[in-house]
Amino acid sequence: KPGHDYYVCLSCGQRTGEKTQRCGVCGGETVEVKMVCDTCLEKTKQELLKLIDFMENDFGLSSFTVSFSGNRGYHLAVEAKEVLELGRDARQEIVDYVTGSHISIGFHGLPPSSTYAPDYSDPGWRGRVARGVRRIVLEAGGDERLGRLLGPRQLEELRSMSSLWRDRPRWELLKQGGRSQQLEKLVSLSVDDAASHIDTVVTTDVHRLLRLADTLNGKTGLRAMVVSRDMLEEFNPLRDAVALPEEPTLTVKVFHSPRYMLGENVYGPWENQAQKLPAYAAVYLLCKGLATLA
Ligand SMILES: [Zn+2]
Ligand SMILES: [Zn+2]
Repeated sequence: KPGHDYYVCLSCGQRTGEKTQRCGVCGGETVEVKMVCDTCLEKTKQELLKLIDFMENDFGLSSFTVSFSGNRGYHLAVEAKEVLELGRDARQEIVDYVTGSHISIGFHGLPPSSTYAPDYSDPGWRGRVARGVRRIVLEAGGDERLGRLLGPRQLEELRSMSSLWRDRPRWELLKQGGRSQQLEKLVSLSVDDAASHIDTVVTTDVHRLLRLADTLNGKTGLRAMVVSRDMLEEFNPLRDAVALPEEPTLTVKVFHSPRYMLGENVYGPWENQAQKLPAYAAVYLLCKGLATLA
């Protein structure tokens, strides 16, 4: 749970991660603070880009619409008739595939049989796993997850073989089983990196998603909008989805506001104070219930 989601007491300022209406310290009224930050949004976008890569390259789908929700997330609407006709189980299989669930490396020639072990140029998960392990081995010194999983001695072993992995996978160099599960752990890290960690709410109501486009999100005042595939990499919701103008400036009474970024400006932090703000920045706090019109 990110640090910008919490409940704060309006009387004494006490914060807690737990949902509560009354402050545990003074009994005062609390308000829920649920912000969006560029780090989380960027991470969400990276997961979306991975999902699109699966759609395009593994499923051969090119016709879909990406939209920003106006708050924390994106939607991907697939329009292909073949997909729309799929039943629940088939949809679940797609979800399992893109999230890397239940991947069994035994089915991919690991432990290595020289003829069938995954190679960097392989399609689908095989190539993803091979390239992922390559990257992890090449960066073995810098990956702290690896240190936690394997310990210093095995990390050193990986480092010493890293140059050997540059041009082709050297699965046979990795220890397997027992106490030193280098192969298993590298593969599972690699699967985790390549999987698209998405909120897997799959809906058939594409029209609902499209109706939302170009409306204002009631939790932020940001624009819910379609983002073209070409613009997605550059798209920054906190800049590009700001829908309201700066004028008129509004004076609001802010109960509590952490620092937040919007329209390339930084606002806050504030506690119990009147604040004169550009319209979009004021509406943002009003929508979040963190301020009232003064
Ligand atoms: Zn309190
Ligand atoms: Zn965040």
